[in-house]
Amino acid sequence: MSVLVFVDNKNGALVKSSLEAVNYASTIASAKGVDCIAISCGSIANDALEVAGNYGANKIVNNATENADNAQIAQLISNVVAEQSASVVVFSHDFSGKAIAPRVAAKLNAAIVSGVVELPNFENGFTVKKSVFSGKAFATYKVNSEKAVLSLLPNSLDVATTDSKAEVISDNSDLGISKLAFKEFKKKGGEGKIDLTEAELVVSAGRGLKGPENWGMVEDLANTIGAATACSRPVADIGWRPHHEHVGQTGVAIRPNLYIAIGISGAIQHLAGVNGSKVIVVINKDPEAPFFKAADYGIVGDAFEVVPKLVEAAKALN
Ligand SMILES: Cc1cc2nc3c(=O)[nH]c(=O)nc-3n(C[C@H](O)[C@H](O)[C@H](O)COP(=O)(O)OP(=O)(O)OC[C@H]3O[C@@H](n4cnc5c(N)ncnc54)[C@H](O)[C@@H]3O)c2cc1C
Repeated sequence: MSVLVFVDNKNGALVKSSLEAVNYASTIASAKGVDCIAISCGSIANDALEVAGNYGANKIVNNATENADNAQIAQLISNVVAEQSASVVVFSHDFSGKAIAPRVAAKLNAAIVSGVVELPNFENGFTVKKSVFSGKAFATYKVNSEKAVLSLLPNSLDVATTDSKAEVISDNSDLGISKLAFKEFKKKGGEGKIDLTEAELVVSAGRGLKGPENWGMVEDLANTIGAATACSRPVADIGWRPHHEHVGQTGVAIRPNLYIAIGISGAIQHLAGVNGSKVIVVINKDPEAPFFKAADYGIVGDAFEVVPKLVEAAKALN
């Protein structure tokens, strides 16, 4: 018996949201008294794979196939589930998790609970809580199937690490021919910038900034504190900022430790993508701006006066 967890990798390292999922899976495995086994796909060095052990995985199974598609990865995971007699498979509720977890659930005829925010409760069967309605409410589900697939909303739980290393096991199985051949990867600008979906700190701005020429101070603040930049939807729609920075209901959903919102009103559609942030700081000249209701800290003031002062203070701190 075991609990499995899928780990994604980027630039030769396991990604942060996957490592959170490993920690989550290992806590479930400990509660059940079984092993926690991570599964990875791609050409990645053994010492990078062993890091899964720091987050609680006993072993990590790696298939070195490069650029495998989601169907191939789902097949790999299903094979390992059968080999290891796993009862629970955990994913991060990130881009890969959202694409692969449902395929695995279908293959295993398993229940799937996506966007879970707490550890399961095994006292009365198997219940687990998930976030619903764009983070506005929570729902608890009872799992009635033999196997369960869970995807963990990033940044939902504290992570505990140790010095342990995971035992690396190579999986040489042939994942078959992809129905979707990978051709090339071309990033749309933003090279060297912090990835918004993985960022711990995010500085975001909206229409209150009046025009794209005023984003210098936003980038200055982001660079000074090591944050990614984001924006509201109208700002991306008008073309002041690239679309990949747009957060919200129709953009990217993020859950950083710190979200600084500058000149953003806090419309419900914007909040839907950022209200999972641990700490929200709002800078707005209108004291009645709805965003203040969701804020942990608020500064009522003109962004053009407040932000340069914040940059100055952050530089002094650095
Ligand atoms: C179906 C649908 C989906 C949507 N999806 C999204 C989404 O995913 N993401 C999203 O962001 N929006 C989304 N929207 C749009 C959303 O409803 C709001 O219109 C949008 O978020 C407003 O953007 P904003 O806050 O930048 O601009 P505004 O609403 O114009 O607010 C600007 C704010 O800046 C403040 N301000 C002005 N000048 C200054 C200054 N000098 N200093 C400080 N503050 C200042 C103002 O007080 C105001 O609060 C969606 C809408 C619909 C209908």
